[in-house]
Amino acid sequence: MTVTELVSYEDALAAYDPVMGLEVHVELGTKTKMFCGCSTALGAEPNTQTCPTCLGLPGSLPVVNATGVESAIKIGLALNCEIAEWCRFARKNYFYPDMPKNFQTSQYDEPIAFNGYLDVDVDGEVFRVEIERAHMEEDTGKSTHVGGATGRIHGAQHSLLDYNRAGIPLIEIVTKPIVGAGAKAPEVAKAYVTELRELIKSLGVSDARMEMGQMRCDVNLSLRPQGADKFGTRSETKNVNSLRSVERAVRFEIQRHAAVLGDGGTIIQETRHFHEEDGSTTSGRVKEEAEDYRYFPEPDLVPVAPARTWVEELRGGLPELPRVRRNRLREEWGLSRHEMQSVLNAGAIELITATIDEGAPADQARKWWMGELARRANEDGVELTALPITPAQVARVCALVKEGSLNDKLARQTIEGVLAGEGGPDEVVAARGLKVVSDEGALGTAVDEAIAANAAIADKIRGGKVAAAGALVGAVMKATRGQADAARVRELILEKLGVEG
Ligand code: ADP
Ligand code: MG
Ligand code: ZN
Repeated sequence: MTVTELVSYEDALAAYDPVMGLEVHVELGTKTKMFCGCSTALGAEPNTQTCPTCLGLPGSLPVVNATGVESAIKIGLALNCEIAEWCRFARKNYFYPDMPKNFQTSQYDEPIAFNGYLDVDVDGEVFRVEIERAHMEEDTGKSTHVGGATGRIHGAQHSLLDYNRAGIPLIEIVTKPIVGAGAKAPEVAKAYVTELRELIKSLGVSDARMEMGQMRCDVNLSLRPQGADKFGTRSETKNVNSLRSVERAVRFEIQRHAAVLGDGGTIIQETRHFHEEDGSTTSGRVKEEAEDYRYFPEPDLVPVAPARTWVEELRGGLPELPRVRRNRLREEWGLSRHEMQSVLNAGAIELITATIDEGAPADQARKWWMGELARRANEDGVELTALPITPAQVARVCALVKEGSLNDKLARQTIEGVLAGEGGPDEVVAARGLKVVSDEGALGTAVDEAIAANAAIADKIRGGKVAAAGALVGAVMKATRGQADAARVRELILEKLGVEG
C-alpha cells in the first residue's frame, strides 16, 4: 500500500475509534549482565564481553543479577504496580542466530510487576495509561547483515554476530489496551513513551536513550467502528526508536487500517516495520495465532521472592517522580502550563533548576535559559546543555545584575563573552570593561552635558513634558556606551531639571 491510498486522518477518526497497546523494552544500566558477570559496557570489540553462560554453552549455569531485580521492582513501584510475592523466570523457546541458547530467559505468566498505571499530560489534561505488566528478560546479541541493500537479512551475502549484548538485562513494560484517546491517540502514545523515559531516567536504572537502542517501543494498533465494543484486529509495528516515530507510526497505522477496513478488507494480525524516511510501515511477519514459544519455568534459576520489607524499603527510597516534580516546579516558578511546556520542550528544566540552586531568582534563571541562551542554541543548532556556559555562570550574571554592577545589556554582553570562551562572568566583565557606571559624579557630569547639548528638550521637560526625558536618557546611555543604569539616569535628569518623576 502506498501513502496516496491512505484515508485522511480526519475521515479515519470520523468512522473509527483507535485502540493502542505499547510494549516498551528498556535496557537496564547494570554493570554486569542479567545472568552472568560479563560487562555491559558499550563500544567494546565484538564478542569480547561473553562467557559460557551468555554464549549458551552446555553445562553453564545462570545466576540472577540482584541489581537487575531491584531495578525491575523500582520500575514496577514507580508505575503503581503490584509487586509479585513470588515469581519465576521462563524459557521462551525459539531459534535465531543472535540467541545462542535457543531460548530467551524471560518471564511469562508470572511477571515481577503487574496491574499499574502511568498518568501522562496531554494538552493540559491528564490521561491515565494502564499497565498490564513489567517483566524481566535479557537482550539478544546483535546481527549485522552485510551486502544487502537495506541492512536487512534479505539479499545479504553474509551476517556477522556480536554477542556482547546477549544477556544484558531488559525490562519489558506492556500497557493494557489504551482506549478513549480518540483523535489524540498519536499524542497520547508519544506522551506515554516520553513520560516513561523520564520516569526510568529519574529512577537511575537506565539512561533510556532511544537513539542508542536503550529504549525501544513496539506499537500495537487496531480500529473499531465508532460505537462498537469489540476490539478490531491489531497490527504490531516493531522497534520504533524515537518519540516522534511513535507518534508517526500510530498516525500512519490509523490511516492505513481505515483505508483497508473502509474498502471492506480485513486487517491481518502481523508485525510491521517502520520507515523513518516517510513515516510509513510495511508488512513483516504474519502472526495470526499466538506463536508457540513452548514457555516453561526456567529450571536453572531459583524463583524470585522479594521480601516485603525490601519492597517497602525500595518504595520509601523512590525519588520524587518526574510528573510530580514538574507540577511542583511549575507552581514554584509561577508558570502557566503552556510556559512549562516550552521549558520542557527546550530541555531546560534541569538547567533552570541548577541555576536556581546556584542562587539565581527563578524568573531570572528562566529568562536567560529560555531567552538569550535558547536563541543561541537554536542558532548554533545545538541542545541547550551543549552551550559552553554553566548554570553557576548564569547565576553569577544574575547576581551581578542584582547588585547593580551589570544592566541587562551588559549582562547580555557578558554572556556572549562566556559563550565565546573568554572565561567566566567576572573575567569577561573585567576584560571587556563592562561595569555599569555607578559613580554618581561621573554620571552627574554626563547628565549635565546631555542637558546642555539638548536645551530645547530640557525646556520641554521643565515645562512638564516628562515623557521627553527618554531622549535625554538615550543621550546619556550613548555617552556612557550603555554602561549606566537607565533608571538612575532618568532620576538624575528629573532631579536636575526640578520636576517630579
Ligand atoms: P504480543 O506478545 O503478541 O506482542 P502482548 O500481550 O505482549 O502480545 O502485547 C500486546 C499489546 O497490544 C498489549 O499492550 C495489549 O494491551 C495490546 N493489545 C491487545 N489487543 C489489542 C487490540 N485488539 N488492539 C490494540 N492493542 C491491543
Ligand atoms: Mg509484542
Ligand atoms: Zn556472560
